[in-house]
Amino acid sequence: MSTLHVSPIPCLKDNYAYLVETDGACAVVDPSEAGPVIEALGDRQPHALWLTHHHWDHVGGIEALCERYPALEVWGSAVDAQRGRIPKQTRALGHGDQLKWGGTTVDILHTPGHTAGALVYVADGHAFTGDTLFSGGCGRLFEGTPEQMFESLLAILTLPPATCLWFGHEYTIANLRFALAYGGPHPETTQRLHHVEALRQANLPTTPSTVATELATNIFVRTALTEARRPEAIAHFTAARNAKDTA
Ligand code: FE
Ligand code: ZN
Repeated sequence: MSTLHVSPIPCLKDNYAYLVETDGACAVVDPSEAGPVIEALGDRQPHALWLTHHHWDHVGGIEALCERYPALEVWGSAVDAQRGRIPKQTRALGHGDQLKWGGTTVDILHTPGHTAGALVYVADGHAFTGDTLFSGGCGRLFEGTPEQMFESLLAILTLPPATCLWFGHEYTIANLRFALAYGGPHPETTQRLHHVEALRQANLPTTPSTVATELATNIFVRTALTEARRPEAIAHFTAARNAKDTA
């Protein structure tokens, strides 16, 4: 049973920040802008900001939030700390780090591919995947190779199947439509598309997904765990990523 409570905070055009609460501790993941985050916080005091990567549409609210809550810790990757590209960063994290936080433990996965410093935060059956894994998709390879991204996605998808995956952008419908156009008919993907279309029609987020859902419906990785020959799974991933880049 998870004691973690997560609320998505829609930001900018299609970004999600997340309010994460447990046993008196409160963190915000990827505050793209301060306004909606402050509104979601109400009278709660956040203790930490968890940054998945340095892109402006994830870090944009840091400075205003640090001004308003001066004791805030700013967590991010050691790679980004070294390059000084996350404002006000106070902690430099790497793969395998475990942080005690509000009575639970946060595990850090380093997931290079979208960026060199990309991180995933895992706690109590929840994972915050930033722009590494989207529902039905994955981030563009700005600073990594297809092999790196593939391994990063595998690291996420070998978490327990029920793990909630909270991703950085509301791209789910477009990703699933691409999957059907590119990969052909696929009943599980069609079913998921209908489900998320209904959610969006009701103005609800499609986040979170789960590991099990992504293994069943994410065109980039759905053969990843069953494909015995790793090079073929990577070739499948690379071809899909190239096709999506030019779709
Ligand atoms: Fe990004
Ligand atoms: Zn982003």
